[in-house]
Amino acid sequence: MNFGKYLVAGLVLAGACISSAVSAQEKWPIGISMPTKSSSRWIFDGKNMEKEFREKGYKTDLQFADDDIPNQLAQIENMITKGVRVLVVAAIDCNTLSNVLQKAVDKGIKVIAYDRLIRGSRNVDYYATFDNYQVGVLQASYIEKTLGLRSGHGPFNIELFGGSADDNNAHFYYNGAMSVLQPYIDAGRLTVRSKQTGMAKVATLRWDGSVAQARMDNLLSAYYTKERIDAVLSPNDSLSIGILSSLKGVGYGAPGLPMPVVTGQDAEIPSVKSILRGEQRSTVFKDTRELAKVAVSMVDALLNGKVPAVNDTTSYNNGVKTVPAYLLKPAIVDIANWKEVLITQSGYYTESQVR
Ligand code: BGC
Repeated sequence: MNFGKYLVAGLVLAGACISSAVSAQEKWPIGISMPTKSSSRWIFDGKNMEKEFREKGYKTDLQFADDDIPNQLAQIENMITKGVRVLVVAAIDCNTLSNVLQKAVDKGIKVIAYDRLIRGSRNVDYYATFDNYQVGVLQASYIEKTLGLRSGHGPFNIELFGGSADDNNAHFYYNGAMSVLQPYIDAGRLTVRSKQTGMAKVATLRWDGSVAQARMDNLLSAYYTKERIDAVLSPNDSLSIGILSSLKGVGYGAPGLPMPVVTGQDAEIPSVKSILRGEQRSTVFKDTRELAKVAVSMVDALLNGKVPAVNDTTSYNNGVKTVPAYLLKPAIVDIANWKEVLITQSGYYTESQVR
């Protein structure tokens, strides 16, 4: 009998068992719940996380919920049933996840709020995001700079748009923007002819560009038939595209009627193209690859008994607890710096994608 042969075979088998135990442990499935594919940023977010997790040896279950709240709840429940170890969630409605998160926590599943804070639940372990208040500050400062408000130019007419009121970020953006704009409104340097201010009046459900377009149509016909509008605070690119269509519809952007300063966020390709055409004036770039890395390293730390790195432990109280957060820096993009920020420095896009 060749014992040597059996010994070698046995060792190989044992080795295989050990390595499959290790890889099973390494491949704990991670549930990634994204809100929608209607904005390309979420598609990038999902794909970037999938890639980062895969590189670290994790399996993932990535789902997009079509901006439908019951759909997102069902997808998360399904992930819990499948036995994910961690959930990374960008909520559609920040207030509706408490029950499903309780089910997750009852099974020992950790929860990372991704980009959007989940409110009203103790069961949110960490939050990975960009500095949301700063996004609003950047948008409003762009308007301030472009109109020359600091040097005393004006008065100017402005209208304000907000994001979806059930998205915690929308309030941070609005407050950040108003921290810059409100003093000019109070001083009469900026006039909101519609008098529609405050998130209760300016919010745009589900960040829907067509809702923004319809509201802009109404604002233009009710308040701007004799007056020109000089600026529109638009919190993201989906809204900007709708607002710009409305403005074009009544002749803005043609010779003699320059387009007002319209802001944005996400640096989505149609908006970058619009900036290059001189229509949308700015956007805010948030490198979703970096956000994915932060979320993935939080998960990796949690699953390895380490404490995830955070840089903000005070700003994000969700009504029940202050969620430790890691905030990344957003960057303003306009005609002057788009190439440097989006292409040369970050390689986020190639020039041919946006030309
Ligand atoms: C995100 C923005 C995005 C918006 C609509 C917000 O929560 O932070 O980047 O434009 O949702 O999808």
